[in-house]
Amino acid sequence: MQLQHLSLYNFRNYRRLELPLQAGVTVLQGGNAQGKTNLLEAIFYLATTRSPRTNSDAELVHWLAWQEEPIPYCRVVGLLHRDQEEERLEIILTSQNGKSSGQRGNMRKQVRINQVNRRALDLVGHMPTVFFRPQDIALVDDGPAVRRRYLDITLCQMDREYCRTLSRYNQLLTRRNALLRLLREDQYTEDQLVYWNKKLVELGTTLTWERYHLLDELDGLAAERHYQLSNGQERLHLAYRPSITLATGAITAAKKTHFVVPFPPNMTRETLAAGFADHLERRCREEIAAGMTLIGPHRDDFAFLIQDRDLRLYGSRGQQRTATLALKLAEVETMTLHLGEMPLLLLDDVMAEFDGQRQSMVLSVLTEAAQVLVTTTEGELFAGDFSGQTKHYSVQDGQIFAAV
Ligand code: ATP
Ligand code: MG
Repeated sequence: MQLQHLSLYNFRNYRRLELPLQAGVTVLQGGNAQGKTNLLEAIFYLATTRSPRTNSDAELVHWLAWQEEPIPYCRVVGLLHRDQEEERLEIILTSQNGKSSGQRGNMRKQVRINQVNRRALDLVGHMPTVFFRPQDIALVDDGPAVRRRYLDITLCQMDREYCRTLSRYNQLLTRRNALLRLLREDQYTEDQLVYWNKKLVELGTTLTWERYHLLDELDGLAAERHYQLSNGQERLHLAYRPSITLATGAITAAKKTHFVVPFPPNMTRETLAAGFADHLERRCREEIAAGMTLIGPHRDDFAFLIQDRDLRLYGSRGQQRTATLALKLAEVETMTLHLGEMPLLLLDDVMAEFDGQRQSMVLSVLTEAAQVLVTTTEGELFAGDFSGQTKHYSVQDGQIFAAV
């Protein structure tokens, strides 16, 4: 798969952009605030229908469009080349309230594949992409929502069915929470939960199961990368932290770890589902009192451990950064294994903050990749690193020029 062409219209600080792209490495160089990150954001948006920077789609539309156009909108179009065929991916965001700036939040998102309207979740996975950003460190030091979202985006890009299940689970959760609030006000009887619990267990088990196994895979690969990056000094372990525990005390005691092992090693989908159902039953009163669903994949998390210590709490900044990089490199490997081809790689200004060893490990991945876009403020970092395969561009105030 290759992204051959990118068109932007009113996306962030790009009024209009037509950018042909090639296989291999594309270096985008420019000063601060010129549009480097915006360009990678547009590509990731097309890959996942989500911005990594904001939850407000209105922010993505150029400011001048809000001032000048009767119906402000922006558009991102990518032409993909895959197996001798072309595929056209497109997202259009249109203001639903005209230009009234007070209500910018209300945007319509249209997704098209080869000119045919599709659902947003149908687009995800067409252009598998891994984004490296300095802010990735949030995966280690931020709250659980960031890590859940990370696993979800990674899985959605590899598995359409996961994406559908996730969307159905989220809808179900909203309705179940509404019912729990009604139960709290004594408006219904508890047996009405039976149906919702059954559905929640069915969909929730799939999500937890898939995430748990993805993390297991990432764990092995990230540990290897991390071992190399830390010169064999440290062993990283990624541990799933579900909102329910099915393991017996014996497992925890035998491992003598500070970290409670949540699932038994021989766990099947059925035992997970039964455990989930059992926990729901036991916590029914609590959930009604809270008026919300307290257990399930929407409350799961995972941890980065070194010698059983949680890096979120005890890790130095450097340790956190190394662990993040190990995870992202593992993500590239996992995706490649599952998809049979390397994902598109986007690297936003990450090289500058790495030391020599981390840089060379990233560079070795870049040389293997089919297509990579890197941004940098200092062009020298990439000069001559990839013989012949590299195309250099300069980014200036929302425009892109071929560098001479
Ligand atoms: P840095 O090297 O500092 O990371 P950058 O080249 O990555 O810089 P971007 O984050 O891409 O910079 O942002 C470029 C400019 O885009 C910024 O000046 C920002 O204010 C502007 N910008 C962001 N959103 C919009 C928008 N909706 N409309 C117009 N301009 C915007
Ligand atoms: Mg930037």
